[in-house]
Amino acid sequence: MAPVIKPVQTSADIPQQTTVAIIGGGIVGLSASLALAERGIPNVVLEKGRIAAEQSSRNLGWVRKTNRSAADLPLSIASERLWQEMQQRTGAQVGYRQRGIMFLARTETELEASRLWLDSVKGFSLDSRMLTPTEIDLLVPGGREKWAGGVYTASDGYAEPTLASSAIAAAAIAKGSLIVENCAVRTLSLAAGRVASLITERGEIRCQQVLLAGAMWSRRFLGNLGISLPTLPVSASVIRTAPMDGPTEIAVGAPDFSFRKHQDGGFIITQRGAMLAPLTMDHLRIGLKYLPTLRANRRNIRISLGREFLADLSLARSWTGERISPFERMRIMDPVVNQKLIAEAMTNLAAAWPVFGNAAIRETWAGSIDITPDSLPVISAVANIPGLTLATGFSGHGFGTGPGAGQLAADLVTGGTPLVDPAPYRLERLYSAPGHRAG
Ligand SMILES: Cc1cc2nc3c(=O)[nH]c(=O)nc-3n(C[C@H](O)[C@H](O)[C@H](O)COP(=O)(O)OP(=O)(O)OC[C@H]3O[C@@H](n4cnc5c(N)ncnc54)[C@H](O)[C@@H]3O)c2cc1C
Repeated sequence: MAPVIKPVQTSADIPQQTTVAIIGGGIVGLSASLALAERGIPNVVLEKGRIAAEQSSRNLGWVRKTNRSAADLPLSIASERLWQEMQQRTGAQVGYRQRGIMFLARTETELEASRLWLDSVKGFSLDSRMLTPTEIDLLVPGGREKWAGGVYTASDGYAEPTLASSAIAAAAIAKGSLIVENCAVRTLSLAAGRVASLITERGEIRCQQVLLAGAMWSRRFLGNLGISLPTLPVSASVIRTAPMDGPTEIAVGAPDFSFRKHQDGGFIITQRGAMLAPLTMDHLRIGLKYLPTLRANRRNIRISLGREFLADLSLARSWTGERISPFERMRIMDPVVNQKLIAEAMTNLAAAWPVFGNAAIRETWAGSIDITPDSLPVISAVANIPGLTLATGFSGHGFGTGPGAGQLAADLVTGGTPLVDPAPYRLERLYSAPGHRAG
């Protein structure tokens, strides 16, 4: 199952040449395309499946500053401004609402983690604050659990993933971008040491710059070019309920569930305390780099050995532009919904807010998330391939920062003043991290 995305009329044909060719029609590639079109720069987005059909439509829609690392906050703050004006900019609904986000703690240790986060971002003058159990009851009435406390940011919010990317894509097209679906990019070709063209399954496109916004697939694309990008997949399962009377419009994250109100009056729910890490060869190749993250999240990550191992093995690691690439073999990554996690989320949520015991489940889906070792994305030029820029590895929180990330990538590609300091997102940081080995 996959959420139904608002359709967009895209191009049937690829151009012979362009200025910037963008690989990947998720929110990041599409936002970059819109920013380029607004600057009058010819660009084309190539999407192997359908726009936003992978992570960008399957996410929870949270647009948050709360619990973001200080390094990622300038981009979150810039993106929040872009979300505020997105409906006007695109002329279409994106469902953005600033209804607040709160994270709840059951134990003193969990609460202390929130206090430490709040301390670490003092310099940003956020409206984030700690909550007492009484304040939680007032903001989200009808609860049964005894919370130790929480952290709350009233200016955080959410948008609708099934609308947002479509709105951005349609606006980019209206302003001059080309977007082509069902067109996998196999590889790129160089001339005089720099990017000269993209080789797609429908032919070659000459271009001056390439932006790779391929999320889950970027590691494989770059590996074929001899560049190591450390990202590993995890997956999460999501529930959408029928419209119902819920306790609040604030998005609430507890240790083992989360919920937020959908535009249609239903709720989007997940088991926040558990992510599946289906083992692949990459876990053996680069797993060492993730040891600190694994240690910190050992209760949240459930490692499994299943069909993903063989599915991953069956996809090539190296190929040429003349051959069918792995990107054509899997047009849309559609992981299996984990029924156990769905059931856990609903049980935990109904125990905390009994009103959810009556929720009717309308839809469930799963999505794969590309995680870097430090959970920050890579928005960066690739030093040894002039003309190639990356905007990838958003580690489960790139919907909220997608508009800003796309704009920052457009800035890097065109040499414009960057929206925010791109230093935290440099590719090279991942090579100097402990435990690095190429692979
Ligand atoms: C269950 C779930 C919940 C999440 N919740 C949140 C949340 O609440 N808030 C938040 O901020 N983030 C959340 N995220 C993360 C967020 O969805 C992602 O960080 C964001 O969508 C990444 O956007 P993207 O454009 O990089 O990736 P994607 O949307 O995955 O787009 C990449 C696209 O590139 C295409 N592609 C790749 N390689 C090629 C190729 N060679 N040729 C052509 N096309 C190619 C793919 O087909 C894909 O469509 C969640 C993710 C999941 C799965």
